[in-house]
Amino acid sequence: MSRGNESGRTGRGRHGERWRVRGVVLPTEEWAEFWITDGRLTCEPVPGATTVVDGGWLLPGLVDAHTHPGALRPGDPLDPALLRQHGRDHLAAGVTLLRVPGSADRLPAWFGAEPDQPRVVSAGRWLGLPGMFYDGWTRHVGEAELADAAVEEARASGGWCKVYADWVVGEEGLDAPPLPAGLLAELTRRVHAVGDRVAVHAQTEAGARAAVAAAVDSLEHGLGLDPALLDRMARGRTALVPTFTVWETFEQVARASGSDRFREWFRSAHARLGPLVSAAYEAGVTVLAGTDSYGTPELPHGRVAGEVRRLAASPMPAVAAIGAASWTARSFLGFPGLGHGAPADLVAYDVDPRSDLAALHCPARVIHRGRIIR
Ligand SMILES: [Zn+2]
Repeated sequence: MSRGNESGRTGRGRHGERWRVRGVVLPTEEWAEFWITDGRLTCEPVPGATTVVDGGWLLPGLVDAHTHPGALRPGDPLDPALLRQHGRDHLAAGVTLLRVPGSADRLPAWFGAEPDQPRVVSAGRWLGLPGMFYDGWTRHVGEAELADAAVEEARASGGWCKVYADWVVGEEGLDAPPLPAGLLAELTRRVHAVGDRVAVHAQTEAGARAAVAAAVDSLEHGLGLDPALLDRMARGRTALVPTFTVWETFEQVARASGSDRFREWFRSAHARLGPLVSAAYEAGVTVLAGTDSYGTPELPHGRVAGEVRRLAASPMPAVAAIGAASWTARSFLGFPGLGHGAPADLVAYDVDPRSDLAALHCPARVIHRGRIIR
């Protein structure tokens, strides 16, 4: 693929940029030619447009459906400078849309709106019963107030709330009672009634069972999810975001816990996650790519391509694994793919990423809001 006229890049950031891109669009496999003006794709030729993608493969911009930009250490407040840098880290890698399922504070309006930042779907503050997740990062509320708080966070953010069904970073988490299933069901009913959606953190079998029974919108992590629930999960339209990336860093947490029981639990649950994700895909569950990145050296932002490779290795078809970080995730979050009138958020590759997933790590082009990012 030729990158077209390089001199076109000097127009970055200017108003009224006009580009032309053409290539094979995934997942339809149709050859397409688009012009870009005013931040949108059009099928109608735009005079004077510069060709910036000429051949190769075109995908809707990548999506990280589970990332936490803006604060590095548990308990830290949201840092605007970090938030901006983390957004840029994602965008440089072709990640043009983030879902942020929980943050230290509600995200500022500029994040997700400025030209050098990805689009963002946010869920407000993490919500948990006392003892679940970190102090300072969590809005801890009692059972009686949790549903009200969930509606409040969803309304005040991007239409999502994020709730802990359990929290396991040591042996004691294995014995702690999960969020009561009836409470999660009532919370979900309340949030759905105002048109918003519920993401649930679940690591244990009981936590995942409560999430599936409540037909929440997404189950995050899902380590202990009983495969017997997958058909019900598909019927309830609960997506699974397994976050393989974070679990690969978790062995040190397991070691540091000093608990053989916890370490064994984690290792066995981690070993089951691949087959579980594979079975979930086969059962018709929407599987999405999320890294659970925080911007630390272990979990840097902009690495959703690695999550796609882990999904594919679960195994699931390469095209479905790519969709989990592109068109499938966009559709799930209410964003269109590539077509006339759609936002000009796209990534282009010289080689077919379905046959070489490693290509996802370095797009030949990233265009976001009609601007050339790289
Ligand atoms: Zn997370």
